[in-house]
Amino acid sequence: MKRTVLVTGAARGIGLAAAKRFMKEGWNVAVVDIDGPQLQEAQAELPGALLIEGDVSKPDQVPGFYKGVEKAFGGLNALVNNAGVADFGPIEETSFERWRRVMETNLDGVFLMSQAAMPLLKRHTETGGAAIVNIASISGLRASTLRVAYGTSKAGVIQLTLQQAAELGEHNIRCNVIAPGPVRTKLAMAVHTQDIINAYHDAIPLNRYGSEEEIANAIFFLCSQEASYITGQLLSVDGGFEGTGIGLPALRK
Ligand code: NAD
Repeated sequence: MKRTVLVTGAARGIGLAAAKRFMKEGWNVAVVDIDGPQLQEAQAELPGALLIEGDVSKPDQVPGFYKGVEKAFGGLNALVNNAGVADFGPIEETSFERWRRVMETNLDGVFLMSQAAMPLLKRHTETGGAAIVNIASISGLRASTLRVAYGTSKAGVIQLTLQQAAELGEHNIRCNVIAPGPVRTKLAMAVHTQDIINAYHDAIPLNRYGSEEEIANAIFFLCSQEASYITGQLLSVDGGFEGTGIGLPALRK
């Protein structure tokens, strides 16, 4: 039977690449994104997908997304919590409104979307299981300047994933988290100056940014049966950034 995935924040960037990958593999694809016009643009690239305009951080909207998915496809096998916002600023300039805006989408959204998906995901306890993949960031693993809200939200996503894995394993729902390194999407380009881009190239053993498709490959793998005994794991898809220590560029020269 055809499997179904819901990918949040998939009107563009990493989410769109992931949605296209699932589609290529023959899955039913549902997409939730807050950006209506961007969703319309994505439509041509996602033939047959269910496109839902909505906000993952709104408790009153979230249950309706799943009603739509069930009506369109009859169930759900995997949820990819990818929707995210970035806002870089010094601690003293991060107003409570800016802090909340980041937390709402990046952390509250993952909690709400996962909780509301449970009734549909639990249906697969006896039939091969289901999966949740959350998208964190290398900024959730390593502290850096200007990321007080973003980095903290992503660290929260990593711990939330472990909580989900611990509790949902008995329902055969596998929960894993991906920490992407830098990818040249609209989100990253809004906060990465040329200096930041150069510094990343220097600090990353593969000496480059990743592509949307490279993150999508990992998302698909973790949702697939190829990963049937993998849960509670953090997978960094970051060109080696996480694994390396201080001083690597100097040692290379
Ligand atoms: P992007 O800005 O290109 O795409 C994010 C999408 O999420 C957009 O289409 C946006 O409309 C949607 N979105 C934002 N808030 C939403 C909400 N409340 N409800 C529903 N949809 C919402 O960004 P991207 O670079 O593709 O990022 C995808 C994920 O990857 C994010 O969680 C981001 O934090 C993470 N990430 C990105 C990078 C990078 O370098 N690009 C690195 C690490 C982690």
